[in-house]
Amino acid sequence: MSYGIFSDVHSNWEALSVVLEYLERQKVDSYICCGDIVGYGPDPNKCVEKIFSLKNLSVVPGNHDKAAIGQKDLSWFNSSARLALIWTIKQLSSENAELLNKLPTTIAADNFTAVHGSARAPIDEYLYSSIQCEENLNLFSTPVLFCGHTHIPFIYSSEDRKSNLSAIETENIFFLTGEKNIINVGSVGQPRDGDNRACCVIYNVANKEIKFIRLEYNFALTQQKMMPANLPASLIERLTHGM
Ligand code: ZN
Repeated sequence: MSYGIFSDVHSNWEALSVVLEYLERQKVDSYICCGDIVGYGPDPNKCVEKIFSLKNLSVVPGNHDKAAIGQKDLSWFNSSARLALIWTIKQLSSENAELLNKLPTTIAADNFTAVHGSARAPIDEYLYSSIQCEENLNLFSTPVLFCGHTHIPFIYSSEDRKSNLSAIETENIFFLTGEKNIINVGSVGQPRDGDNRACCVIYNVANKEIKFIRLEYNFALTQQKMMPANLPASLIERLTHGM
């Protein structure tokens, strides 16, 4: 049994396509999406439709998804995120808004728990510190919790109690050694760890293997689409740097 896991697509069709083509080639059995399908980028509808067409999909909403369907106040966001959300709300079809509206904020399955932010606050908490990870370890009952939200991939295990940030490699492989593990799967469509490549993870349940993968995509094309949509320049620029 293997899962292809990804998060924070943020309406970036070019990055999503590369990630899903890769996961398909790897023949994953199921998909997990940790939210923030929309916001920031130029293709909200295409991204929602593609993700919801995946077989064996588990998906939770992120804070941008909630805001895009009117379930989170826009004052919560910084000005560029807010401008992009106002644009996204106008673009999103009612059918796609309804798909986002139906999602549970936490999925606790047999092999994994999935949230956007953290077990404690599934939509909103940014897991940056080891202390926060430690506090969250007892708040889910599966061996592994998958999350996103910070756009910075990491693995935190109850065994070594260390946050091993994945370095800038094309593939980083870890084996789950602790009883409890928190995996931040990074971001597909707006990485913020200094690597502009799309990020995703494959979880092989039988051998407890977690593989972080970085994939190049044509971010210039995404940027070209953002300009005529008048999306904020800072959001366009950051795709170049992955920051
Ligand atoms: Zn996000």
